Amino acid sequence: MKLIIHGGFFSESGTNQEVKKAKQEALATIAEAGYTFLKTHTALQTAVFAVSLLEDCDLFNAGLGSQIQSDGKIRLSAALMDGKTERFAGVINIEDVKNPIQVAEKLLPLQDRVLSGTGAKDFAREHDFPYFNPQTPQRKMEYEQKLQNSVRLGTVGCVALDDYGNLAAATSTGGKGFEIPCRVSDSATVAGNYANNFAAVSCTGVGEDIVSSALAAKIVTRVTDGFKLNDACEKTLNELSTYDGFAGIIGIKSTGEIYHADTHPYMVWASYDEVLEVFS
Ligand code: ASP
Repeated sequence: MKLIIHGGFFSESGTNQEVKKAKQEALATIAEAGYTFLKTHTALQTAVFAVSLLEDCDLFNAGLGSQIQSDGKIRLSAALMDGKTERFAGVINIEDVKNPIQVAEKLLPLQDRVLSGTGAKDFAREHDFPYFNPQTPQRKMEYEQKLQNSVRLGTVGCVALDDYGNLAAATSTGGKGFEIPCRVSDSATVAGNYANNFAAVSCTGVGEDIVSSALAAKIVTRVTDGFKLNDACEKTLNELSTYDGFAGIIGIKSTGEIYHADTHPYMVWASYDEVLEVFS
């Protein structure tokens, strides 16, 4: 039984120790809560649970406190993949909901499993997800200052392995911030979030780079074909260097092997495996 969560990258890591500490503390609390939950729930249920807690924490760029797109609107993307059934579900650029990962969960048993924009919002309302404005004063201020260069702040993700050997991955994001309206993030694609019976991977970083490399799906495929998780992650991440790609990952293998990308010093993550570890 194992669980890893990540809080994405954040630009203040090197300069703002207070924010860094707050994120580490939040990750520690959520990793611990997730691990306790995993004792009595499946990997899939736990991935949704942990990502919902991360979405509710305004320190991260997912759910509450998400980045604002260039037209002033917040659009959220989230995806979930069940390693056991190899079903993927997601919402892309959904507006006015609190927990997009839970809308993705609602889509998982259906035939039509990835919805975007107003279709996703209509689906959410039909399934009793109430109106919620995820904007915080902090994000509004950043938007108003047009901090075009503010680094992608804190997408969130979780990969979990339960007692029955099932794997799951969940990822949620508010996107890059100041992007062209309706730009599609990697997070609700198989490049950013993927799981099967062999491995589960959640990514963060530059969505376009992650999509170009089909990062999560490629790593899981390599593990399925016999690679060690560490080798699959390292090889695939190295391939990003051909176009100067920027990404971080968390991964878990059915054997319990874990991978946490220390590919960038500003990525925050925490794992729980009887003992809590928090890093950035
Ligand atoms: N991957 C996300 C995106 O490009 C951003 C992030 O991970 O921080 O939308």
